[in-house]
Amino acid sequence: MSDICLLCGSPLLYHDTAEEMVCSVCGEKSLGHARCAAGHYVCDRCHAAPAESAVRAVFSRTKSANPVEIAQEMMASPAVHMHGPEHHFLVGAALLAAYKNAGGEVNWETALDAVISRGKRVPGGFCGMAGNCGAAVSAGIFLSVVLKTTPLSTDTWALGMRLTAACLNAVAEHGGPRCCKRDSFAVLTAASSFLKQELGISLAVPERIACTFSEKNAECLKESCPYFSDSSHFISEAR
Ligand SMILES: [Zn+2]
Ligand SMILES: [Zn+2]
Repeated sequence: MSDICLLCGSPLLYHDTAEEMVCSVCGEKSLGHARCAAGHYVCDRCHAAPAESAVRAVFSRTKSANPVEIAQEMMASPAVHMHGPEHHFLVGAALLAAYKNAGGEVNWETALDAVISRGKRVPGGFCGMAGNCGAAVSAGIFLSVVLKTTPLSTDTWALGMRLTAACLNAVAEHGGPRCCKRDSFAVLTAASSFLKQELGISLAVPERIACTFSEKNAECLKESCPYFSDSSHFISEAR
């Protein structure tokens, strides 16, 4: 979820338990954890709908084999909010695009549809509510789709879990509160290392990731985040 209401900009208030809420955008009822101070609730589907188009557009045009660069391009769209369940398919889609551009073989159209539809089933706030970051789940979804893993698979069945576990460890290292950007960058980095080590898949990853979202995140860890980049710091260094 974004920190602020998508409709009125008021701060979001989180509830300990899920409540049935009526979406202020589409009118559908669903279980939700957060409402704004003015009472608005925006369901996950409405929250993520414009972001899906942005993710698909970047996927189609990018020639990059660097999943972080691809994710940053997707995140640059105003349709992708600071935080939100759209990251639960964005991360998998960025990995899939990088894999495709690195020469990986898979049917892109059906694979992208699968990554997005499975990722959308991971609800907003899943990290805190289930002890399981949706960006890490997204990396697991990517591998399951690419390797065509099912519950009956033998060789690849554990591999997906080990990838997700490696990603979750990387996310947990930085502590809370959640940041969908920091968590996505940590997952993409951990997933790229895992894919190289375990499957010999080489994706390009930058040596240093500089986050451009700090000012939009009220809970940014600032200097304690490995991706924090203070632009004023860079300007003074350049002088
Ligand atoms: Zn509101
Ligand atoms: Zn809705």
